[in-house]
Amino acid sequence: MFRPRSLIRLLTHPLISTTRSLARYVILVTGISLVIALGVDVTSQLVFFADWPTALRSWLLTVVIVFIIAIPVSFTFGRSQQALLLAHRELEQLSRTDQLTGLPNRRALMEASEQADFDAMVLVIADVDRFKTINDTIGHRAGDAVIRAIGQIMASHLSQFGLVGRMGGDEFALIATNARVEDIVLALINLRETVTKTAIIAADNVANVSISAGIAIRDPSISFDTVYSEADEALYMAKRNGRNRIELSERVRLAYPEVFARSASG
Ligand code: GH3
Ligand code: MG
Repeated sequence: MFRPRSLIRLLTHPLISTTRSLARYVILVTGISLVIALGVDVTSQLVFFADWPTALRSWLLTVVIVFIIAIPVSFTFGRSQQALLLAHRELEQLSRTDQLTGLPNRRALMEASEQADFDAMVLVIADVDRFKTINDTIGHRAGDAVIRAIGQIMASHLSQFGLVGRMGGDEFALIATNARVEDIVLALINLRETVTKTAIIAADNVANVSISAGIAIRDPSISFDTVYSEADEALYMAKRNGRNRIELSERVRLAYPEVFARSASG
């Protein structure tokens, strides 16, 4: 159904992201201008009719004037709307990206956690062990390089399961929806081993680090805050039990006793 309000919105706030949509916008504006201008001109020429050559000349002139004005004006306005939309999208992307690692940031992770459409969500929080010592011994800049390297290793091992991002500081997270806990635990064991075996070159220094991780699960009846504190508690347990470890929340331990046995041996 034709709605004048949505047409006015389309003309004044067009969503132009591609050259094709810009061309569509120019055609739309020119077409509407043509219909309005010709409508007025045809009416006036027929009401004050002199002769056909005069009327036809006037209509032709109207068409030419509309083309000369409407095409460049709508093109210029459309281009600025396109630039505005692309800048807005870039800003949106930046606001969800961690500047140090290029991974999704806390905000992006929180948004992913709010998605309603999942049967089971697995949350992994991983934290670098004794990272303050790294900063203190090889410097903050080298510390940054370590965080970047750990982020890359995390992403390469866990991205297949869901969204891997940096929560802040030396803490990373995986939010996986509808992935098997067993598979994630196996990948985490592998990740932990890779991190300990990797000599990270950081600003002319070599750093050997390890990570600890906590895993929790969430079904739609549990809030994200609850699952986050369960994963955090599991991480705290991994730190307390000697670091370079993976621990499961109580809920995971009860639901997956066989996984518990595997993570303990890993
Ligand atoms: P733990 O094994 O208990 O995790 O010990 P930790 O020393 O790693 O302690 P914690 O995780 O609390 O320390 C995180 C440190 O990370 C604290 C802060 O100085 C440092 N940090 C936070 N953000 C950055 C950053 O962007 N770059 C660098 N280089 N260091 C950071
Ligand atoms: Mg730490």
